[in-house]
Amino acid sequence: MSLRFKFSLALIITSMSAVIVVGIIAQWQVSTRFDQIAMERAFENFQGDVTAYIAAYGSWDEAQKAERFGQFVRRRHTLTGPHPDEPIFSGSKDRIEPTGARSRPPMPDEPEWAPPFLFILLDPQGKVLLGGGKYEHGEFVPVSDRSGVTPIMLENQLLALAVPQGKPNLSAIDRNYLAIIREALIYAFVIAGTLAIFLGFLFSKRLSKSLHELTTAIRAMNQGELRQTVTVHGTDETAVLAEAFNRMSADLAHAYEKLEESNCTISEQALLLKELSIRDELTQLYNRRFFNEQADKLFIQMQRYKHPLSFMIGDIDHFKQVNDKFSHAIGDEVLKAVSGILKDSIRASDIVARYGGEEFVVIFPETPLTQAVEQCERLRKKIENFPWAAIHPELQVTMSIGLNDDLSFDRFEHMLAAADGKLFQAKADGRNRLCY
Ligand code: GH3
Ligand code: MG
Ligand code: MG
Repeated sequence: MSLRFKFSLALIITSMSAVIVVGIIAQWQVSTRFDQIAMERAFENFQGDVTAYIAAYGSWDEAQKAERFGQFVRRRHTLTGPHPDEPIFSGSKDRIEPTGARSRPPMPDEPEWAPPFLFILLDPQGKVLLGGGKYEHGEFVPVSDRSGVTPIMLENQLLALAVPQGKPNLSAIDRNYLAIIREALIYAFVIAGTLAIFLGFLFSKRLSKSLHELTTAIRAMNQGELRQTVTVHGTDETAVLAEAFNRMSADLAHAYEKLEESNCTISEQALLLKELSIRDELTQLYNRRFFNEQADKLFIQMQRYKHPLSFMIGDIDHFKQVNDKFSHAIGDEVLKAVSGILKDSIRASDIVARYGGEEFVVIFPETPLTQAVEQCERLRKKIENFPWAAIHPELQVTMSIGLNDDLSFDRFEHMLAAADGKLFQAKADGRNRLCY
């Protein structure tokens, strides 16, 4: 469930609850107030009738003997004349009727007319004088059954007690008023409810907008786009959050860029370091350590799969004399030139290295002896025929080479030692030659 939906729901539930509560309270208040007004009016009439009845004959008992209360009331109101909106008959007839029974007066023409309220009349001690309901005439009504009792007074003397019975009968005008008010309340309820739903959606959209932007930006960050900027609306908590997010995103992106830069430098340096660790500084050929690693691997591989492999070891002839006769610098130039010739003459799969001093080694993988012999002869001749005079007019360089292809040895070092033996033989046989 999205945050926006939750915001909408919360706002709509809150406002709809307020609308419903206000509607119910208003409706209840209005009908209660109408009932109250009807009862007050009815009581005033009833009180007037009772006091007039007692005043006319001196006491209730005397009055009863002379004339029934109902008759008196009808006569009284016929004389004064009925008011069209005001009910003229305020109490029950002086017959005993069940509580809540409607007594219909003879005067008003309206067929729906009914007395606005029925009262039981009690004497000051609580005995029924008129309309006792479940109590007989003269019977004592307990205090618990006298809810809403109102005293009827005349010149500070308590004449009787009136106990309202049942619900009031509202006049036609009152009922109309009540219906109009109810209708207005329903309209107000529908309009307020629609407004609440509309505003709920509108405000929830506004409230969740900033958060929606933030979550979108966080998703983008999650996918690797670390530099994100969200709009800061106002100064509330989401604005503080957005500001902090923008700052953190910028810092993170900056730190990440720096990290990537230094990673790059580290990788470059690591590569350089690796190159340095496996290369000979002067000739840039592989060094002895790297050669040994590679030779060991290849020897085991070729031995296992019974593929041909040849080792060559070459040594510059009388190199000490080159140093001595021409200088150490020229000696270095010679080493570089020989390295260049070796590097340019072998295949990409072959490995050449400076084994030490003026000694060079080459591994020829997948190469049987006959092929390797051709290769080495070519190398030897290239060195011999190199234009050494360009370095020094009197300079002449040759190389003696030993070669071996015997994979029956336990270790490659033994095979290399065998090649070295052949080199020794080449030296002994007069140098500038290949032995295998
Ligand atoms: P042989 O024909 O028997 O191999 O005689 P050689 O003089 O070549 O062999 P020797 O072992 O007597 O001398 C090798 C010389 O190589 C000795 C050393 O000063 C020189 N040398 C070794 N490394 C370098 C280097 O890096 N630069 C220079 N200029 N000379 C080096
Ligand atoms: Mg040597
Ligand atoms: Mg030598």
